[in-house]
Parts: sequence; structure tokens; C-alpha cells
Amino acid sequence: MRCGFCLPACPTFKETGVEAESPRGRISLMKAAVDGIMEPGISFEDQMNHCLGCRACEPACPADVKYGQLIEQARDAIETHTKQHRWWVSGVRKLVFKELFPHQKRMSLLGSGLHFYKKSGLQTIVRKTGAVKVFSKHLSDMETILPDASSKGIVEQLGTYIPAKGEKIATVGMFRGCLMDVLFTETNIKTVKLLSEAGFDVVIPETQNCCGALHAHSGESDQAKALAKNNIRAFQEAGVDYIVSNAGGCGAILVEYDHLLHEEPEWKEASAWFAVRVKDISTILVEQGRPLQFAETVDGGASTRVTYQDSCHLRNVMKGSNPARQLLKEVGSVAYIEMKDAGSCCGSAGIYNVTQPVMANQILEHKMENVNATAAQYLVTSNPGCLLQMKLGIEKHGQKDRMEAVHIADFLYDRVVKN
Ligand code: SF4
Ligand code: SF4
Repeated sequence: MRCGFCLPACPTFKETGVEAESPRGRISLMKAAVDGIMEPGISFEDQMNHCLGCRACEPACPADVKYGQLIEQARDAIETHTKQHRWWVSGVRKLVFKELFPHQKRMSLLGSGLHFYKKSGLQTIVRKTGAVKVFSKHLSDMETILPDASSKGIVEQLGTYIPAKGEKIATVGMFRGCLMDVLFTETNIKTVKLLSEAGFDVVIPETQNCCGALHAHSGESDQAKALAKNNIRAFQEAGVDYIVSNAGGCGAILVEYDHLLHEEPEWKEASAWFAVRVKDISTILVEQGRPLQFAETVDGGASTRVTYQDSCHLRNVMKGSNPARQLLKEVGSVAYIEMKDAGSCCGSAGIYNVTQPVMANQILEHKMENVNATAAQYLVTSNPGCLLQMKLGIEKHGQKDRMEAVHIADFLYDRVVKN
């Protein structure tokens, strides 16, 4: 089928109006490369790399085309066959994919470094001297919204077991995330405390590692598979009933570990065991948790205007767009405003806003038109990448005094009545 129903859902097609920048166009290019009609050269690579991987095309497709799987295979093939990486690109890829992300202790060192950068006054010096401008404009913009990184992750701060408050409903394993645990440790802590308030014993397996999403989306599928296997072992040993993620980008690959490992029959059962247990924090709170009690009036008693930006992967892959909205509406004195096109990508998309800054900024600008129209005080998200991108948009639009971007776990925990 070449119906084109996916075209209006695709952010890069909406921005450009160009067929090659659409899901249908990209699939045609993949087919032409497979059929030997075209050489998968630089322009083919560019089109594949322009795709955000947001997977908004999948729910729009009446033929149930698994676009996410196609783009990952295409990127994997590009990586396997390409010899065009410059030396420094290969160096950065090796550093990030092999030496850094898979090793949580090294990620903690990164957290310590970022913590030192912010707290020692170095950041102020760097800004005053304009040293940060030696990087690209986009990276120097990103530097302005660098969160307060932590040198101590959630296990160092809470231990590996947090009991349920009140009667226990089930045991959940917390997926802490590699970057999440360094840049948003406080959000991880609040996620665990929310789960405890809702009646879950929480276990945080220490041997878990990065989810492998970045690797899988960047053509490093062997590394992604190795990371997946280690995570499956860690959570199976912990014997949990559910596995909870608070990052849509991580959750989406976790629920697809069975597909990631589908060519390895010896992993069939274990990967299916894992995939079926993965839940986003909002979904498990709504569907399995004891209902949370929220303070009736918060934020000084005045009604608080709140809007929500979907995480593409939570919405399009984990099918979890409703629970977060439901929870936000339950919070006392919240006036919930649905944003126009809240389900459309914000331009963050993993490292897309670093590798494709022009398109990412264009998408962000259009997103901010809709954000600003809500006049919300809180812009809530369910994924660290979206959170940073929204903070960047707010900063660029000079809205910092009127609007705050927050993760849903932080927003809910700060307003829940604690047992
Ligand atoms: S994943 Fe997103 S950007 Fe890529 S083709 Fe599908 S809708 Fe377009
Ligand atoms: S991917 Fe699906 S929606 Fe898009 S053109 Fe093909 S069949 Fe139609």
C-alpha cells in the first residue's frame, strides 16, 4: 500500500512538504536500495538520518507497517556497510556507545563532572568569557538548560529496596536509565517514592544498565542486544512483577526487547517475560496502583494552568498517552489545558537535536507556538529528552518567569498527600 495516510502525521514531512522526507518516501528509498535501483549513498543516509524516529507514522498506518523496525534495519545496514565516518566521528561514537553509556560507574563520573561544572563557578566563568560559544550555537543554547547533575545515583541515595507504604500490591523493578540517573536523579527518587505511596515494593537492581535505545536507533544493534540481555538477567534475578520506566524513550525499547532479540531463539522466553512487564510510571499508577490522594489546593490555592507534551515513544509505541493526562486532572486546583498537536514530536528525539539541529529547531519553534497559546504555568512531560527540549524552548522564548517544564513524576510527587 502507498496510501499516504502517514504523511500528515510525520513532523519532517509537515516541515518540508517533501515526499522523500515522509515515511512513505523513506520506505520507497529503502525499497529502491534493497532492489538495487539506487545506491544507498550519502543522500540516502541523509534521508534516513533526517527521520526523528518518533514513530507517529505507525498509528496512522492502516496497513500496520512497522516503520520503526524498518528504519532501525536501514540504519544498521548503513553502519555495517559504510566506511565513510571521519576519524573523529568514529571516535565519538566509540566513546559514547561503547565506553560511556553501557557503564553506569562512568556515567556517575560524568555526573560528578557536570555537578562540579555547575557548582564550582566554572559555568559562570565559561559563560562570562563566552568560551561556550566556540561550540555550535545550538550546543551553547543547550548549555543554558543543563540540569543539576548528580554524582550519586538513586541506588547510592535510596538503596536497592524501598518498601510499599500501606498494604503491598506488587513488587516493581525500577528502571533507572543511564543518563536519567545522572541528570535527573531527583526525578528517579520521586518516581520510586510515588510507587511506594501507591502500594508497590520497589527493587532497583544494581546490575541493570543502559536500555540500548540510542544504540538501536544509531545502527549499533549488537551493542543494543548485549545491553538488553544484561537488563533481562538483572530484572529476572530480582523476581519483579512489573518493570517501571519514567522515560518514554527507554520504555519504548524495553517493551520491544522481544523484537530486538527475535533472531535468538534462546532468548525468546526471557525477552517476552521482560517485555510484557514493562510499564510507564503513569500507566502503572493508574492501572495497578492504589489511587493517590492529592492536596485539594496547592500552589497558593489559585488554579494552576497545566498542559502536557507527549513523549512520542510513550504515545506511539507504549500506547500510553491517556494515564498522564488522567493523573494531572486529578491534582487539586489544576486547570488542565490540552495543547494543540501535543502528540507531535518536539524535536528532541534522542540525540536528534544535537545531530540535526536545524530541523530540530524548526520543529521546536512550531511546538512553542502551541505551547505559548496554552498560557500554561507548567508544561509537563514524561521523558528527559522532551523535558530538556521544552526547557530550551521556554528559555529561547523568554518565558522562564511564567512557565516551567517539569517531569510528571516531580509534578505529582510534589502534590501528593504522603502516607
Ligand atoms: S518516525 Fe517520525 S519522522 Fe520518521 S518517518 Fe515516521 S513520523 Fe516521520
Ligand atoms: S506506511 Fe502505511 S500509511 Fe504510509 S503509505 Fe505505507 S501503507 Fe500508507
